[in-house]
Amino acid sequence: MDRASLVIGYRVRGKCDRSRYHGSEMKNTARILNGIEIAAEIKAEVAAEVRALQAEGITPGLVVVLVGHVAASEIYVRSKVKTSAELGLYSEMLTPPESITTDEMLALIADLNARDEVDGILIQLPLPGHVDTRRLLEAVSPEKDVDGFHPINAGRLQSGRPALAPCTPAGILEILRRSKLPIAGQHAVVLGRSDIVGKPAAMMLLNAHATVTVCHSKTVDIGRYTRDADILVAAIGRPGFVTAEMVKPGATLIDVGINRLTDAAEVERFFPGDAERAAQLARRGSTLVGDIHPAAFALSGAFTPVPGGVGALTIAMLMHNTVQAAKARRGGRGKA
Ligand code: NAP
Repeated sequence: MDRASLVIGYRVRGKCDRSRYHGSEMKNTARILNGIEIAAEIKAEVAAEVRALQAEGITPGLVVVLVGHVAASEIYVRSKVKTSAELGLYSEMLTPPESITTDEMLALIADLNARDEVDGILIQLPLPGHVDTRRLLEAVSPEKDVDGFHPINAGRLQSGRPALAPCTPAGILEILRRSKLPIAGQHAVVLGRSDIVGKPAAMMLLNAHATVTVCHSKTVDIGRYTRDADILVAAIGRPGFVTAEMVKPGATLIDVGINRLTDAAEVERFFPGDAERAAQLARRGSTLVGDIHPAAFALSGAFTPVPGGVGALTIAMLMHNTVQAAKARRGGRGKA
């Protein structure tokens, strides 16, 4: 049987678990890149850096601004605040009302820029439609821009200078490096060109000496590029867009996509015979799939699962950025 026709089942919870394969007797040799384990490693390093800074009288501080009530954002912001506390960072959550104006937000950001104990400012997106998001993101001091969205940081990244880099693509590079997967000289194909994921991911791979191709919604015959990819990064937000026929056997597949499946037939189509996924759907009303079809993982050399892959790294990289921002701005200004 062709490995591409295998259906791979996997679970990632703290430890890799290859015990669940469905639909075939044949062993799958693809390596699971466990984002949860890598994130734990990074968080432990960040906590050690925080302790060292605290010994100098510096506690890195993060302020998250959450405007209005978006349920998904609230969950995400709470986990950022919780992780900050776990790692010893000072954190604050500001919750201005949905009705806040651009000018009022600009004043709030100016205040945070001026506060010495604040090292990182994160404006949780999306913002309400009446607010000028771009103007606000540009108002955040580049030294405190822990999301890496400010054009100064994008420019620094592009010119290969030290920068606060966007967390999700920075997490991708950490996964590759810590898993000792080669980057230099590899053909990396990035699907998606958003300012948050695709473009910075392409830039970081280029800075790490990969040969990079970027595809987007106007690219003709995407498979022509993906089939040649040694490293394929999919960040388009289309469930299972990359099929087994579109990948090179042995390639490294990095799946950034987070797509919620709510329909039982669709879940069965992506995860045939996977009782755990079906149970999850029944329990929670949804299950997640990435931009890469699970059947393509079976062909790969290594892959990041969804969930438990790239997504697990994002908050760890935010903590890392906050500590780097504190060191860059306040390093050498401690007790002594
Ligand atoms: P986005 O801003 O919507 O950008 C999507 C990109 O994909 C665009 O460049 C778009 O091309 C391209 N695209 C859309 N449909 C396509 C198609 N059929 N063929 C080729 N290219 C296509 O999304 P994003 O913020 O980058 O996020 C992408 C995915 O990653 C989403 O699923 C999101 O939920 C997920 N994500 C995950 C994390 C994480 O922590 N794991 C973080 C951020 C995002 P055009 O530029 O031509 O429109």
